[in-house]
Amino acid sequence: MIPFTYSRAGSAREAVAAGADAGAKFIAGGTNLLDLMKLEIETPERLIDINRLPLDQIEATKDGGLRIGALVRNADLAAHPAVRRDYGVLSRALLAGATGQLRNMATTGGNLLQRTRCYYFYDTAMPCNKRAPGSGCGAIDGVNRIHAVVGASAACIAVHPSDMAVAMRALDAEVETVLPDGTARVIPIADLHRLPGDTPQIETNLKPGEMITAVVLPKPLGGVHAYRKVRDRASYAFALVSVAAVVDHGAGRINTVRLAFGGLAHKPWRVEKAEHILVSGGMEAWPQAADAVLEGARTYGGNDFKPALLRRTLHSVLAETMTA
Ligand code: SF4
Repeated sequence: MIPFTYSRAGSAREAVAAGADAGAKFIAGGTNLLDLMKLEIETPERLIDINRLPLDQIEATKDGGLRIGALVRNADLAAHPAVRRDYGVLSRALLAGATGQLRNMATTGGNLLQRTRCYYFYDTAMPCNKRAPGSGCGAIDGVNRIHAVVGASAACIAVHPSDMAVAMRALDAEVETVLPDGTARVIPIADLHRLPGDTPQIETNLKPGEMITAVVLPKPLGGVHAYRKVRDRASYAFALVSVAAVVDHGAGRINTVRLAFGGLAHKPWRVEKAEHILVSGGMEAWPQAADAVLEGARTYGGNDFKPALLRRTLHSVLAETMTA
């Protein structure tokens, strides 16, 4: 591991002031960052430990939503009574991620910012435009079973690994941040993560030194919540395809539906057109909804199965929610 300095921030202002340095990196749970540092994929000169900041609360907002501090651990968030009662899709997505030990350490902010698990990104002997811009992409003509089928580019076909972020996308969460000059801003989760384009090394729209302080969920949607994750192992594996669904139905009709997908793209994938198709056409319109989700899809050999897997998973999740 390359030497680095370590300091603890006593306040958010202190943290972002220290984090403004080009070589600085925030650390909280460290469940992804430390692995990346050991492999010398991440090589920060300064680690700013933010674990002592008062960002570990879950509280109701005045408009009926929920504010989740950036340092709330994944296990605590999944088990919180208000999350279990009102945001079941989020609780289920969290419990589908990682392992119990990792969920005890991983934080809300860190989960959003975890990096892809593309094999070539972690293998420093292989080309990877995300790790070493301009070096090429080992996955496009390589082993790409876990890779993207929508929203990818000629530079990168990686997927975002978070389950939690997929559920938050379905819920239309907002991300609160603080910038190095001390000002705060709110970013819709739809705009937090980026597609790879020509710059796959830039994964979010956060500015240098900007720190996530909380995620805010809007007031509960009601309806039936489901999160289905299809993966190669029953535990401790990333999604080949995942579906987050919140469906309000009655008398055989779909009144409202929210859908977001993991394992398909460089960011949590949501296509509102698919939701409109289901509301107007009902359950019978699920093939057209799947077509909308997969519009422009391209596969790369190892992941040729994904579009069919997405279709079957979407159908199964919708059928489950419509009978609940
Ligand atoms: Fe790197 Fe992206 Fe290609 Fe994987 S898919 S090797 S992360 S450029």
